[in-house]
Amino acid sequence: MCDYNYKKINEPLLIWYEKNKRELPWRSDPNPYYVWISEIMLQQTRVEAVREYFQRFVRELPGVSALAAVEEERLYKLWEGLGYYRRAANLKKAAELVMKEYKGQLPKSFEELKKLPGIGDYTAGAIASIAFEIPTPAVDGNVLRVAKRLAASYDDITREKIKRGLFETLLLTMPKDQPGAYNQALMDLGAMVCIPNGQPLCQECPLFEICEGRKQGIASELPIKPKKKARRQEEKTVLILEFQGRYAIHKRMAKGLLEGLWELPNLLGKMTVDQMDRWLVEHEVQDYRMELLGEACHKFSHIEWNMLGYWVKIDGACSLEKHFPDFIWVENTDLANEYALPSAFAAYRSRLEELLEEKS
Ligand code: SF4
Repeated sequence: MCDYNYKKINEPLLIWYEKNKRELPWRSDPNPYYVWISEIMLQQTRVEAVREYFQRFVRELPGVSALAAVEEERLYKLWEGLGYYRRAANLKKAAELVMKEYKGQLPKSFEELKKLPGIGDYTAGAIASIAFEIPTPAVDGNVLRVAKRLAASYDDITREKIKRGLFETLLLTMPKDQPGAYNQALMDLGAMVCIPNGQPLCQECPLFEICEGRKQGIASELPIKPKKKARRQEEKTVLILEFQGRYAIHKRMAKGLLEGLWELPNLLGKMTVDQMDRWLVEHEVQDYRMELLGEACHKFSHIEWNMLGYWVKIDGACSLEKHFPDFIWVENTDLANEYALPSAFAAYRSRLEELLEEKS
């Protein structure tokens, strides 16, 4: 634990926030539902990208009851492009629970909020403070970075004990009358001034005079995070498989990476043209045309897919149920409007659009 006195940041931080806060769609009406949806979307997604998704999402699902009732397929379509689909699945589960246990209103308590699927300390703190003005810190990577630079602390911020320690400290020092503004001020300072990956913009910072990291010239070295393990590499062949103007998609297993989501058919390893020919013959496809779609790469948090794509157009007769029992075949418009494909397949999805355009 460091002994930096965080109380002294309150006043300059709040004055700075009043003048510099970001205009964000969920801030104009910080009701609990909006705060919740925006905070879940903002996990692992940039603010600029979230703006549009948020507006579309709340237009179609304006409250907890609509979210609880939405079909999974539609929910994933609204989430398409944001990635980490488990966040969307948890939103729906939590909404169902809120309908059942809390009469459709998000609970006004940090501890009760944390009982909902997908809501951890950070999100519960954000909802409690911003929507209900309950003094609760919201400690995420941004806040940890700002706090450790202020204190010139070499603590490893990936350790749970360090996060918990900062939560306890800020709980004592945060202003009790403006907890929502305070948490949002720290978020904005971290996003706009005390920025990650490089030099913080200390000259623009309201905490310039009281920042130990800046005074000691070590701010840009902080915070300390041990290097992540290298991602596991996986090679794949991705297929756009077309038959009579419809395209094959496949539902992934209910457990594991991209659980239960639709995907383009794919095979392990990068297949050569000869290997693809053999695979098609094994599936009793005789008459087809094949086109190479090139390589693409997608990084998940722990795995990296290195992909090679083919477009295979089946021309002759083919018993789809018999030879491809795991696939369903959908039109391109359905693919665009109804089925969400994870962004891992975005490169091939756009390639399909380009090819259809060229051929039309
Ligand atoms: Fe971050 Fe610099 Fe401000 Fe310190 S003075 S909080 S390092 S931007």
